[in-house]
Amino acid sequence: MAETKGTMVIAVGGNSLIVSEDRQAIPDQYEAAVATVKHIVNMIEAGWNVVITHGSGPQVGFILRSSELAIGEVAPVPMDYADADIQGAVGYMFQRALHNEFVKRGIDKRAVAVVTQVLVDGADPAFANPTKPIGPQLDEATAKTRAGEMGWVVKEDAGRGWRRVVPSPKPVEILEMEQIRLLSGAGYVVIACGGGGIPVLENEKNYLVGVEAVIDKDLASALLAAKLGADRFIISTDVERVALNYNKPDQSWLDEISAPEAKRLLSQDQFDAGSMGPKVEAMIQYLNQGGGGGVITNPENLDRALEGRAGTRFTRA
Ligand code: ADP
Ligand code: MG
Repeated sequence: MAETKGTMVIAVGGNSLIVSEDRQAIPDQYEAAVATVKHIVNMIEAGWNVVITHGSGPQVGFILRSSELAIGEVAPVPMDYADADIQGAVGYMFQRALHNEFVKRGIDKRAVAVVTQVLVDGADPAFANPTKPIGPQLDEATAKTRAGEMGWVVKEDAGRGWRRVVPSPKPVEILEMEQIRLLSGAGYVVIACGGGGIPVLENEKNYLVGVEAVIDKDLASALLAAKLGADRFIISTDVERVALNYNKPDQSWLDEISAPEAKRLLSQDQFDAGSMGPKVEAMIQYLNQGGGGGVITNPENLDRALEGRAGTRFTRA
């Protein structure tokens, strides 16, 4: 294996594990994880010490929907437990896919998924204003019916349909930071902060309590990358690049952008608040805390993006 290049945090999108509407089953998601892992292992072979984070919007939605359908027979799953379920299930997918890819290539490495709790602030204004899309895309009528029946808040999601939205408080502190640092430092490929982490609050006795919310995985990943002092922060999603004027006639793709410029464009609402917005915000936060360099791209272009031949690169200035 090549000489070490440094630490890289790769945030894998929950939507990128769902390749199409008719391929949402667990074996399909595993297949997508396997495909993504091949590109991640290329990074490991190239000498990067990789920490993986992942989203879970659609997957948490499936668990909550199953739980809703089963009400009357099985006690419903609170959202923090749904987050924990997904950290286990998607963590297992990545752990197994990584193991198998290491075996295939004769690489002596081990992967480990860490159940990660992330502290949030009870006074975060997000609790009064839900913005995070979860679950399947619905047509407007179905979405509005469910909203009435279940007390949901529903919103239009990046031109792709209607979805339920839940509170998305800011990540304040990754509570398993020390464990993640030790495991990564010892050479394990760590999978952490799944679904943005399980949101918890500290009560007046300093005890942790779970809350019904979803932390944005891009912002949690940026916090992890900054705290780890990661040399690179990669957000792997289902578009190759970030666009200006996305889906408009004058759309153009960005090759490289500085943190101050990204901030300016973000304030002009160039990036949708439920999808690309938090990714750009995450890049800015990571770079402003001394991050080495960031990239937003899709899994197939990871290698090329690092060489500056694909994706959108984010620089400090
Ligand atoms: P993930 O599961 O990876 O977090 P998201 O759906 O949250 O994926 O974010 C990726 C999506 O962001 C893309 O599929 C695209 O539809 C949407 N998007 C919104 N604004 C932009 C933009 N300016 N440039 C590129 N993609 C954008
Ligand atoms: Mg997202």
